[in-house]
Amino acid sequence: MPIHLLSPEVSSQIAAGEVVERPASVVKELLENALDAGARHISITVEGAGKRLIEVADDGCGIPTVELTLAVARHATSKLNSAADLFRIATLGFRGEALASIGSVARLTLTSRPAEAAVGGQLRLEGGVAGEVQPVGVPVGTAARVENLFFNIPARLKFLKSDLTERRAIDDLVTRYALAYPQVRFHLQQENHPSLQTSGNGNRREILAALYGVEVAQQLLEVLADYDVVRINGYISPISLTRSNRREITFFVNGRWVHDAALTTALVQAYHTQLMVGRYPLAVLFLDLPPEMVDVNVHPAKAEVRFRDRDSVFSGVQRAVRRALLAYTPVPGLEAELLTPPQIPSFPPSQPSSAPAPFLPITPPPQLPASPTPLLRLVGQIASTYLVAEGPDGLYLIDQHAAHERVLFEKLMMQHAGGEGGENKIPAQSLLQPATVELPPAGARLLANQLPLLARLGFQVEPFGPTTFLVRAIPALLSGADPVAALRVIVEDFEEDETPLQAELEARLIARVCKRAAVKAGQTLSPAEQHALLDGLESCSSPRTCPHGRPTMIHLSVDLLERQFGRRGAR
Ligand code: ADP
Ligand code: MG
Repeated sequence: MPIHLLSPEVSSQIAAGEVVERPASVVKELLENALDAGARHISITVEGAGKRLIEVADDGCGIPTVELTLAVARHATSKLNSAADLFRIATLGFRGEALASIGSVARLTLTSRPAEAAVGGQLRLEGGVAGEVQPVGVPVGTAARVENLFFNIPARLKFLKSDLTERRAIDDLVTRYALAYPQVRFHLQQENHPSLQTSGNGNRREILAALYGVEVAQQLLEVLADYDVVRINGYISPISLTRSNRREITFFVNGRWVHDAALTTALVQAYHTQLMVGRYPLAVLFLDLPPEMVDVNVHPAKAEVRFRDRDSVFSGVQRAVRRALLAYTPVPGLEAELLTPPQIPSFPPSQPSSAPAPFLPITPPPQLPASPTPLLRLVGQIASTYLVAEGPDGLYLIDQHAAHERVLFEKLMMQHAGGEGGENKIPAQSLLQPATVELPPAGARLLANQLPLLARLGFQVEPFGPTTFLVRAIPALLSGADPVAALRVIVEDFEEDETPLQAELEARLIARVCKRAAVKAGQTLSPAEQHALLDGLESCSSPRTCPHGRPTMIHLSVDLLERQFGRRGAR
């Protein structure tokens, strides 16, 4: 075949194919137009899984009748003027392609009336051919009606998934946009049934409940962080709540839903080793950056973006997520995940039953009775790493490191809370021989500013030269721990985040130091040490997780053992 130019019909179908892949892509483009038009109320109607009908009606600014024909022309937009504008895009649309693309692969009826016009106009476009604009009496706003999608591209129709899948893709899309724009009232009707209705009152948790159910929505942790490069807010799941795939991880960048594998990886990494292999968190995170820091013009469907300062954005996501995870002590449902026994037995002493509020700073545990009766009988240590104990309702395997972290953490937090206001801070123990620590200049500066805080935590540290410090005392509870190593983890923490909330910072520092000071896996413990650890754990208010959220113990209930050994259910 000799080289020839493609006909306008063919080239517009090729272009349309990039923008309109499936019914949900039509909904997305129309939703974005409505949001760009400043709509407060958006109503979406879908029939035949979007193949028969998609209608999106809004109460936004409307399109002047004289501009209707232009609106459906390719590369016609009211949102962009110069090439330079491309790098400061504040609207969702800018390519001026959506309506033209939709009009070339479906029948599009565009009806609109701006507020200042007495009547509206209507324009029909079918297979790329536009009709005449007709005057119509309609309310202010715009309605785009898309019928017979892909009627002229049968091959595309064959590539669509089942109706169920296409409908779900629309549900997912609209719900995510509803989450991103909680002040806008969304109404989605699929096959004559209301599928989503939001109130537009700005409450995101309500919408999360519609998406995931009330129980899951209540468990989600709030993320809120304001860094130089990026502002991050949204919701993430605690470590106890996971999915087997990444599908429930959603990122919005400047109000735009984006698919970015690297952002997803950053998020998953923030959970660290706390998630089991093959499990993923749920997350809806909204990132806001100055428009010039994001290139949105990299993908025809605008589903991908490029960050000018990629690394800072990713590390911002990780810091924000880690902070939210750490600021929250989960009530775990460990057995449910691992072994699924019929019910989760409660570990004594019973935990505070009220579910912790999201973004709860780590609070000191409530005062416990002086000597709670030990309820676990120690059996011994295995692999120099785990303690084995028997409880009234089965067997417990305890991770000695995680357990010790928890014990130290709660004791220190208790002492810390006791000392508030008064002189009585966390008791310090002087070192026989002060230890010297040499730090890099940046770390030294950070530490120098925080010496009073360290003193409250039981660390007596003095400057000793420009980048050198003398550690004179450490918290009494940590006696025997390496003072230099403990100080270094604190400095690392300062470096990670220079402006955290004070209360959160203190709790986090204490958690860090405890991690460092706790007995390690592989360390053989004497029977007396094993007993002390178990007793300590029993008097914790949240004995089931370490301060970083990892489980301290695995419970094998008698019931489970009986089932595993075929003693029950075999009848
Ligand atoms: P883009 O959104 O990239 O500008 P579109 O093809 O989606 O391109 O829309 C073309 C133009 O039509 C928009 O720039 C806007 O001026 C107008 N428009 C489309 N939909 C609406 C709407 N719902 N309300 C008001 N104006 C609209
Ligand atoms: Mg658009």
